[in-house]
Amino acid sequence: LIVMHQVHKIYDLGTARVHALRGISVEISQGEFVAVRGPSGSGKSTFMNILGCLDHPSQGSYCLAGYQVSRLPAKQLARARNRLIGFVFQGFNLLNRANALRNVELPMIYAGLSRQQRELRARQALQLVGLGDRLDHKPAQLSGGQQQRVAIARALVNSPQLLLADEPTGNLDSRTSVEIMAILQALHRQGLTIVLVTHEPDIAAHASRRIVFRDGHLIRDEPVPDPRDAQAEWAALAEQPPDED
Ligand code: ATP
Ligand code: MG
Repeated sequence: LIVMHQVHKIYDLGTARVHALRGISVEISQGEFVAVRGPSGSGKSTFMNILGCLDHPSQGSYCLAGYQVSRLPAKQLARARNRLIGFVFQGFNLLNRANALRNVELPMIYAGLSRQQRELRARQALQLVGLGDRLDHKPAQLSGGQQQRVAIARALVNSPQLLLADEPTGNLDSRTSVEIMAILQALHRQGLTIVLVTHEPDIAAHASRRIVFRDGHLIRDEPVPDPRDAQAEWAALAEQPPDED
């Protein structure tokens, strides 16, 4: 689904240049659940923005679902993004004046669906995340976890192939985080490809693969052990020096 080759990102601020990504090469197949980790400022969000076609690499190539992203004209790129990718970010980015149903309908307006179709699919998506009884609530009338679930419903409503989540549980207490993770895991079991940035090891443990950034480099890429193998991993860790991040 994703093939990135030697991607660099340099932010040029005139007065200063930040080399945020320094030659990232990675492939992600359909159906993978990848956790992205690394210290603050290591390039995780920059990587996610490029994956999501919200930003272009300064150098290198990015191929998404067979499209060579840097060669697509802006309009086609926007259409591909809308069709292929769902986004969930830490700040929810919901419209405060609109109720849950209208918030979830939003991406379908851009996709040009009729009003009836939009409403039907938005109801289904909200039901899927357990908010079938909160359609008419505005963001301020929902809990943080419920707002994040509205954001997930909105990200899913165009049936994307790829879900990108940048610290989706960052603002939530641990119990609510567990609920959000249960939803993401269920989506993964249904075949959705997920790339998730998280600082929390407990959350990363739900993924099938873990990649680690440091100073714009991808320094680690490994499968996440099955929970059933956790005991074996603990035993192995006890014999190794502790993990740094
Ligand atoms: P965090 O865990 O704090 O979210 P991160 O790993 O997501 O960190 P990035 O946001 O990717 O880090 O930032 C990587 C580097 O690029 C940082 O040094 C940051 O200051 C810089 N940077 C990020 N976005 C921009 C921008 N729009 N313009 C200039 N520099 C930027
Ligand atoms: Mg970030």
